[in-house]
This record gives sequence, C-alpha cells and structure tokens, in this order.
Amino acid sequence: MLTFNEMGLSPNLLKGIDELGFKKPTTIQQEVIPIFFETDNDIVGLAQTGTGKTAAFGLPIIEQIDLQDKSVQALILAPTRELCIQISKDLQSFSKHINGLQVVPIYGGASIETQIRALKKGTHIIAATPGRMLDLIKRKVANISYIRTVVLDEADEMLNMGFRDELDAILERTPDKKRTLLFSATMPKEVARIAKNYMDSPVEIVVGKQNAGAENVRHIYYQVHARDRYLALKRIADINPYIYGIVFCRTRMETKEVADKLIKDGYNADALHGDLSQAQRDSVMKRFRSKSLQMLVATDVAARGIDVDDISHVINYNLPAELDIYTHRSGRTGRADKSGISIAIVNYREITKIPTIEKIINKRFEKLLVPSGAEICKKQLFKLIDKMENVEVDEAQIAPFMDTVNKKLEWLSKEQIIKHFVSLEFNRFLDYYKNAPDLNEKAESRGGKSGKRDKRDGGARAERGNKRDRGAYTRFYINIGKKDGMNPRNLIGMVNEYTKNRDIDIGEIDLKDSFSFFEVEEKHRDKVLKSLNNKDHKGRTIRIDIAEEKDARRKKGKRKKGTKSQKRRAKK
Ligand code: ADP
Ligand code: MG
Repeated sequence: MLTFNEMGLSPNLLKGIDELGFKKPTTIQQEVIPIFFETDNDIVGLAQTGTGKTAAFGLPIIEQIDLQDKSVQALILAPTRELCIQISKDLQSFSKHINGLQVVPIYGGASIETQIRALKKGTHIIAATPGRMLDLIKRKVANISYIRTVVLDEADEMLNMGFRDELDAILERTPDKKRTLLFSATMPKEVARIAKNYMDSPVEIVVGKQNAGAENVRHIYYQVHARDRYLALKRIADINPYIYGIVFCRTRMETKEVADKLIKDGYNADALHGDLSQAQRDSVMKRFRSKSLQMLVATDVAARGIDVDDISHVINYNLPAELDIYTHRSGRTGRADKSGISIAIVNYREITKIPTIEKIINKRFEKLLVPSGAEICKKQLFKLIDKMENVEVDEAQIAPFMDTVNKKLEWLSKEQIIKHFVSLEFNRFLDYYKNAPDLNEKAESRGGKSGKRDKRDGGARAERGNKRDRGAYTRFYINIGKKDGMNPRNLIGMVNEYTKNRDIDIGEIDLKDSFSFFEVEEKHRDKVLKSLNNKDHKGRTIRIDIAEEKDARRKKGKRKKGTKSQKRRAKK
C-alpha cells in the first residue's frame, strides 16, 4: 500500500493534507491517484459517499496545475451548490501551502456578477453546478477550451436532478484531448451513457465492500402502519436520547410537516429544504454542524451537500422513490471509520422493497420492534440519572444555599428525595407513554374479509390523538363492487396507481355487490377524486364521489345535490 508520500505528491501538497490529519490514503485514493499520474486513462470510480473521492481527484489535479498558466485547467462538476463549495474548500485546504493556486466555486441561486468577477480575475480550477456553468460558458465568461481534466462528481445525482442536457452541452464544449473522471455511487443507464459517449475506454474502479462507511453501518427497519410513522419517529428519537441524525423525507411539504411537529413536541429539530432562503439554509446547517441541532429533517436534494462526520443515525421517514437513493442516505452515517445506524420506517407495502435495497447495499436489514413505552422510559431514566451523576457541582457557589435547602428537605428520606427528583424531570415521559400502544404493524392488520383497520385499545387513540389530530378520513362512494371483481387489495392498488402515490392511507373499506365505500385520508381527498374519476376498471368507467352519509346514495338512489364534488364538476 502506497503512502501519500510514495505517490509522488509534492512537499507543499503533503504538508496541506498532513495538517488535515490525513494519515494514509483511502481505498479510492489508493486506486485513482497512481492511475492519474502514471497513465492518461479516463477513470470511472464507483464509490459511495464518505470514501474520500474529493482528495482522490483533487490531489492529482492540484499536482498537475501549471501555476504560470492563467487559463482554467480543471473543471469539476457536482450536483449542488453545497457540494461545489465543499469541493472548493477542500481543494483550497489541500493546496494551502501552494502559493497562487486559485479555485473558484460556481453555482446557481447566487449573484452571477460576483462569480463573473471571480472568473475574470483568473482561476486554475472551477467547481461548478452544471446549470450555472453552462450559462457562464454561453456568456463567454468561462472558457473551458484549455482544460486538461474534467471531473463529474456524483454523476448519478447530477442526472437524477435533471442536469442531463447541461452535462451534454458542457462536455461537447470541452477539448478533445483531456482526461475525464466520473464518480458515482451507482451505475444506472444514464450514467453508463455519459461514460460511453464522452469517455475513452475508462479504467473502472469499484470501491464496494471495502467502503469503510458501509461496513460500519447497521441497517434496521421498523414496520408500522403508514399513519403511525410520526409516532414511530418520536419513539426512535426517545430511545436514542443522544441521537445526532438526519431524517429524510420525500417532499418539501413532508419535511416541513415532520419538522414542525417535532419542534412542537419539544424535540431539538429543524427542517432543511429547497423552499428556504440560502441564508436560512446556512443558518440551519450551521446549527446542525455545531451540534446545537440534534435532528435535521431534510429532503434528499437539500441534504446532498451535508458532510458531517459523526452522524449517529440516518432515518428514512419514507423509503426514497428511487431505491438507489437509499445508499446516498445511509452513506451520511458511518463516515470516517465511525459506526452508524440507518433506519427505515416502513409500512406493509414498502416492506416488499427491503430485499431490493439489501441487494443494492449488499447487506441485510435487521427487523426491530418499535420500542415500547416502558423501554423508552427506562432509557430516558438512565439518561437522566447519568446526567445527574456527571453534573459538575460548583461547591463554592452553592454552599451558601445548602443549609436552607437541607432544612427544607429534612422531612424526606434519601429514597424519597430520589423519587421526587426523578419524577420532576421524568413525568413528561411517564405521562406520555402511559398506556402507549404497540405501534408494530401486524402482518394481518389489513385486507381481512371486511378490510377494516385493526381495532386497537384506547391507549392507541390517546397517543394518536383524536381523529382530527391524525388527519381525518373522507368516505368515498365508488361505482365498482364485488361483482366487478373488486377486493380490498385491488382497491388499494387502484388508488395507488391512479394517484401515482403509494403512500395514501386508506381506512375502512366496505364492499357491496355493485358499488363500494372506502375511506381515504382527508388531505388526499381532491387528488383521489380527480385521479380516479372517469378512469377505466376492466372496461367500466369509474365514478367516484364523496359519500356524505353512510349509504346515503343507495337509499336515495341518486346523487345528493350540492356536494362539494358536484360543484367542482359544474364549474368545468
Ligand atoms: P466523498 O466525496 O467520497 O463522499 P469526501 O471526499 O467528502 O468523500 O471525504 C469524506 C471525509 O473523509 C471528509 O471529511 C474527508 O476530509 C475525509 N478524508 C478523505 N480522505 C481522507 C484520508 N486519506 N484520511 C482521513 N480522512 C480522509
Ligand atoms: Mg464527494
């Protein structure tokens, strides 16, 4: 195994990485750096996050920069602003002792004038997002016709984010004689296409199982009913009092909702998503980095730039729509040889995706039961006692008060004092988890003959709140029934398919011979109405409407006037 020294890096560069505490090259660095120096080959590197890719391409690029030459010599393309800034910062740290080496980050959503000025001053290396880069090339502010190296960092993610055309346009404008490096966690078709079109028989380096990060990560899933996701999240947070983690949600809306609820429930959490201004995002990230924030609730896109080394938990509030993304998410923990836990909260539909993810990560999930109220109370109690044991006592400061305090407590025995003290801090948990229900979804909780939701004890309702709190259900009438081959399973399937949303919670299903009723979370009411109406079910046109009262329609034999959906129709 070569050391950085033996790789032929110059003393000033070695000094820079030594100051960063890099002792020996990571696997991908071991592979890429010698190939870079000893051959002219293009390189494809398949490696997950946290494997040290930035230095793998950054160090040899810096080493080959001709400081006298004022043209742009290397272009690094990355999917997000945060990554571009991070890459620039990393390269600047590596080259701290190399005088005059310039790296400029270029990204959208920030003043283009400032970036134009920076480019006009001259730079050796650009780290850019594809959109803004192409813009600046077209404006003839950035000249990439002399570059010697192009890096496509997190290529899969750039394509996921829809940068395909920009990448093509930029690559078309690069000189023929140059070296191209492509890094990606996965190799979907689109990435393979780029490699095929723009790279010359690349050397492929796969850093799979050796990836230190992946080895140290435990993958766990909890199976709950979709509507209990949030409660499960709270329990996960409560059973891990020292959690320092990222909660991934699929949409901005959901990110906001989950973060808001956590904050309201007294958790140290905040949201990171695209609707925030840059200043807001920076402030959230700053708090998270400095650990004044314990839980960051984020969308995949917003979390791309996060490289925090000691994240203890990654929580998939929902599984990602594209299962490949799971590796990106879980790669946020277990970095730099630390251990980490990646958790997926899944409902009975998502459970079928677990084996596919296991294939992708090449590792097994452990199925754990959502902790019970009693387990959580025990854990929290230990945290409290631990804190009490380890608290620093400032003898001098409290001495003058101790007499009074002791006198006041005279009537209590030591045992009683402990009990009082524990209750003082602890009643919140005891109260909350008193009669807490079992959140673990039973395999047969749905799809029984009546298709009814399983009935739970009163405690379940207590924790979940009343119907309103958890989001009420709307009852629908649909003109398809048992005669048409309808059963609960294909009704759920139909709703999923036509709404293109697999996460709509369906409540009670009541199948009749030639029509049926079913409940859907109220927030999805309009979507369900619009998506299903007039669609086809085995040759029959689906009619669906809101059922105002139970079986009202059948008794009256015709539509009730003035329902919301009819007004909607009338408007059209
Ligand atoms: P990737 O781009 O593969 O996600 P990074 O290049 O961002 O990974 O590196 C991940 C972390 O590991 C960073 O904090 C980086 O400073 C650190 N790192 C990279 N190379 C080394 C090394 N050789 N020794 C120690 N730490 C390293
Ligand atoms: Mg990286």
